[in-house]
Amino acid sequence: MSGTADGERPNLAGRRIAFLGLGNMGGPMAANLVRAGAQVIGYDPVPAAVERARQAGLVLAAHSAAAVAEADTVVTMLPTGRHVLDCYAEIVAKAGPGTLFIDCSTIDAADARAAAVAAVAAGQRACDSPVSGGVTGAEAGTLTFMLGGDGTTVAAASTVLAAMGRRIIHCGGPGAGQAAKICNNMLLGITMIGVSEAFALGRALGLTDQALFDVASVSSGQCWALTTNCPVPGPVPTSPANRDYQGGFVSGLMLKDLNLARAAADAQAVDTVLGRTAADIYAAFVDTDGPGRDFSAVITAIGHGRARPVDHQQDSRSEQNQPNVAEETG
Ligand code: NAD
Repeated sequence: MSGTADGERPNLAGRRIAFLGLGNMGGPMAANLVRAGAQVIGYDPVPAAVERARQAGLVLAAHSAAAVAEADTVVTMLPTGRHVLDCYAEIVAKAGPGTLFIDCSTIDAADARAAAVAAVAAGQRACDSPVSGGVTGAEAGTLTFMLGGDGTTVAAASTVLAAMGRRIIHCGGPGAGQAAKICNNMLLGITMIGVSEAFALGRALGLTDQALFDVASVSSGQCWALTTNCPVPGPVPTSPANRDYQGGFVSGLMLKDLNLARAAADAQAVDTVLGRTAADIYAAFVDTDGPGRDFSAVITAIGHGRARPVDHQQDSRSEQNQPNVAEETG
């Protein structure tokens, strides 16, 4: 149930696509639709976003209902489920019948299903299509799309999405794209914390970051959080750690996704102990560090002052076998 858009950029000449939400992600995604030849009618309440979109070749509408009136497709890229549901309430009846609604925002799977139900009740076609790949992927047109919807709707959406991404994966019925997205990002949050703990412990045991990276990156600890988004500067020169964690996928959005995963797990009575713990760790981190640095910056809060009380009797019994543990993990 998956496809790739590699090397198959569509020609969208003649298509009329409304794009609502022209922020960090939506702005560059909409610009790629313009590059593919579509007429893109945009709307965003923020003037700076509107100005950037104008420069990228979009036609700007005064409000969302005006943007969708003549469109054959409506793409939304909005902050939360509440935004999507409120927006759909305003626009689904304003578009012509049979318009294709594609929501690319990251939202709760239940909200995604409710949005699709509202659109279908108004005579439209709808699917959820959250993305992975961040702002860099949005700009480069290399996003991964995770789709939830019926096969015909998803096939129609794929033609448009191929102008903005490289991989298009049909995950199941309405809401399945969002389900896949939050499961993936829960795993990502957990693995980033795990990689960070490994570096903190490695340093305390006298290992250089490079030595641990050289081992783990070719061993069973290998994962994306280590080999692509490495949280320490040095081993992966392109990772945000090399530029004080600027750019990348910000901690505030990781916390948002972990909270979506936690809410979904609670609703389904699935005990995701590590997912919950990761959400708590990111909540505390965002509280002190703010939401704006790459989520790998969480390493700067890991390994400090959280050691369990030392059992000195046990220490002296096995002193000969213990490594020399430094107090600071750096
Ligand atoms: P953003 O805040 O930069 O952009 C959202 C835009 O939506 C804003 O410009 C806002 O003014 C606009 N908006 C709000 N209500 C609107 C409405 N009713 N009609 C039209 N526009 C409206 O956020 P972003 O980083 O672009 O993220 C958008 C979505 O993509 C979120 O759901 C986020 O979780 C998801 N996402 C973001 C990233 C990332 O790296 N930034 C990666 C993957 C997924």
